[in-house]
Amino acid sequence: MIPTPISDPISDPREALRMLMEGNARFVASNPEHPNQDAGRRAALAPAQRPFAVLFGCSDSRLAAEIIFDQGLGDLFVVRTAGHVTGAEALGSIEYGVSVLECPLVVVLGHDSCGAVAAALDSLEQGQLPGGFVRDVVERVTPSVLSAKAAGIEDRDAIVDVHIRQTVDLLVERSQALASKVAEGKVAVVGLSYRLLDGQARQVAAHGPVDGAA
Ligand SMILES: [Zn+2]
Repeated sequence: MIPTPISDPISDPREALRMLMEGNARFVASNPEHPNQDAGRRAALAPAQRPFAVLFGCSDSRLAAEIIFDQGLGDLFVVRTAGHVTGAEALGSIEYGVSVLECPLVVVLGHDSCGAVAAALDSLEQGQLPGGFVRDVVERVTPSVLSAKAAGIEDRDAIVDVHIRQTVDLLVERSQALASKVAEGKVAVVGLSYRLLDGQARQVAAHGPVDGAA
């Protein structure tokens, strides 16, 4: 097997975001390139990885990261939990992606009709929490739902966008490693809201050196 030469690692957050959004545009247009998915790429990556983005998304089966952003092996460091709720393991994985793998971009990916957000809304309206560890997921989405409701937002998909923004803020607040990389201008944290029907990812939040950042 002849390994495919690997291009220089990407260290500019803008460039990383552009690559991600271009891949999403190809997916939306049903014109994917399926890059970096052959045996040559596999062989080239075996000694080391240098992904260009950490993707922290909802576990929803319709949100398969490499498919919806038209990427391949070694491109994305993917962390997914139901409702992209954060805990120590998710934060540690994201910090690993940024500190050890030197990814210049962290993306929080949520979507319309999110079951975790719906479950948090339902549990608030019914005054009843689910059992088992699903409760843990619902409890971690609930602060976003409460703050959306306090702002008078009732539409479920608009509440999803609030939850994405809150997750972006939470990552930067809770992770010292991430916050200092953002402050140094080396890493951007971007929130994307994905539409299940047309496959489009839309930017709804950002920290760091990208357009539209707070
Ligand atoms: Zn979801």
